[in-house]
Amino acid sequence: LEIRNLQACYGEMTALWGVDLHIRPGELVAVVGPNGAGKSTLINAISGLVDVPDGQLHWDGTDIINASAESRVRRGIVQCPEGRKLFPEMTVEENLLMGAYSRADRSSVNQSIDEIYEQFPILRERRRQIASTMSGGQQQMVAIGRALMARPRLLMLDEPSLGLAPIVVNEVFELLKRIHKDGMTILLVEQNVRSALRLAHRAHVLSQGVFTASGAASDLANDPAVLAGYL
Ligand code: ATP
Repeated sequence: LEIRNLQACYGEMTALWGVDLHIRPGELVAVVGPNGAGKSTLINAISGLVDVPDGQLHWDGTDIINASAESRVRRGIVQCPEGRKLFPEMTVEENLLMGAYSRADRSSVNQSIDEIYEQFPILRERRRQIASTMSGGQQQMVAIGRALMARPRLLMLDEPSLGLAPIVVNEVFELLKRIHKDGMTILLVEQNVRSALRLAHRAHVLSQGVFTASGAASDLANDPAVLAGYL
């Protein structure tokens, strides 16, 4: 993914002021920053869900700035949204199947669901349970599983640690580490700066719609300005 000078706005209100970002296959890149910095806007701009008045967005060398949100999913650009956004009255398995909405081949969908259950045994156990009755951490697993059902080539996660107890946050980050180790390219957006920088190769600090620091995640974790502002 290659982004140049990307701007995003809601009507008159500009939320991203010209962001440059690239992600290579197999990388895990983090974007960290406080409330309202524009992190979700960035993910939604990449997904084609907010107005992008200016900038370039290339995927696999192809300009996708005018591509529809659904065609971006079909190309492999998939997000796991902030707050999980499960279908609360549907079962775990029905939620997972919604992630495969754009896939036509039922037998390969069934194979994917088996793979998800192998990765998340608790979800197999709870497959008939109504999603809203699961714990926060388990709901986050369903949300990640649902995103994986779309067969992402880039998995974008919007604050997967939001609202979870610290011990559960660790579990979710361990899970992301495993998914990444298995080869997934990841864009992780987080307010939990410390955990995100521990996991990522490279990172950007986003503040009021601009990147204020960028570099190797380990360098940023020791950068005095980042330490003072976020750690
Ligand atoms: P949070 O962690 O609180 O979600 P964030 O970094 O993801 O923060 P965004 O949600 O991207 O931030 O918001 C960036 C800016 O855009 C904020 O000023 C926010 O109020 C504004 N904004 C977000 N969504 C909308 C919308 N639908 N309409 C108008 N303004 C919006």
